[in-house]
Amino acid sequence: MSAGDVVVVGSLNMDLVVRAPRLPAPGETILGGAFATVPGGKGGNQAVAAARLGARTAMVGRVGDDAFGRALRAGLEADGIDCAAVRDLRGEATGVALIVVDDDGRNGIVVAPGANARLAPDDVPEAVLAGASVVALQLEVPLAVVEATARRARALGRTVVLNPAPARPLPPALLADADLLVPNEIEAGMLTGVAVDSIDRAFDAGARLREQGAHTVLVTLGERGVVLVSAEGARHFPARSVKAVDTTAAGDTFIGGLCAALARGRPLPDAIGFAQAAAAISVTRPGAQPSIPWAREVVATAP
Ligand code: ATP
Repeated sequence: MSAGDVVVVGSLNMDLVVRAPRLPAPGETILGGAFATVPGGKGGNQAVAAARLGARTAMVGRVGDDAFGRALRAGLEADGIDCAAVRDLRGEATGVALIVVDDDGRNGIVVAPGANARLAPDDVPEAVLAGASVVALQLEVPLAVVEATARRARALGRTVVLNPAPARPLPPALLADADLLVPNEIEAGMLTGVAVDSIDRAFDAGARLREQGAHTVLVTLGERGVVLVSAEGARHFPARSVKAVDTTAAGDTFIGGLCAALARGRPLPDAIGFAQAAAAISVTRPGAQPSIPWAREVVATAP
């Protein structure tokens, strides 16, 4: 049976990325440039981050019975991730994201969830949850799976980390089942109605989320760092100062690093510092999963 100190229950996508001089208008065909297939999905990215950043990691998810699914599984296994609970589904396609990136760095993305949308609550084995210390969840798989997994993990006394991405209204019971709620500024804004355009507004959004039933809230603010709002009070953690070249997967690296540090028993402020150091490295490199660092690199940059 799968085992990991960190268990990620979530999405697995193959990102199909093409560069183009500009995004096409409706009905238009344009000639693009280089094309790449890149493993992605918030679930997969967070699992890779947790594993590279030091946690024994297991993934729970679904892929199609196709070449993309096999490639995604092989990639996770190459990072040492236990994939016994990644099932392939006959007759269903692996999730894909079709991404066009223009010369100004803007993108247009369409996600076809495919097998991710077929993940069911019963696909999450009890032994996997029981064997974990931290369970990481996002919102790219059906909400029923997220709700049921959070409830079961909390009943087992596991630490539940919920990344509410992409943003959508959350049932109060799910907020209450998450030990840590980790939105970025856009998601925090959508969940609270507060325009999170400053550190002070992030404190306000965190307080609102706690009023809605969240326990501990971490709002990630890109280069402005992280705001923590908990029963003990509120605190800002500045980000490392680095030269960013590509922020893709910064959030997923932060969450994977946070989960890995919490699974090692690090106190929350230490875990935030470790996760921020890892995320800061990821933004200095291009790409999503290729940019995620290993624990030894983070230790080497410790202040
Ligand atoms: P993405 O969608 O790009 O993966 P996100 O919006 O989910 O990211 P962010 O809040 O942008 O998440 O970033 C998460 C964390 O990564 C931040 O709290 C910060 O610690 C780190 N980070 C992001 N951008 C930078 C940056 N330019 N410089 C240093 N650290 C950064």
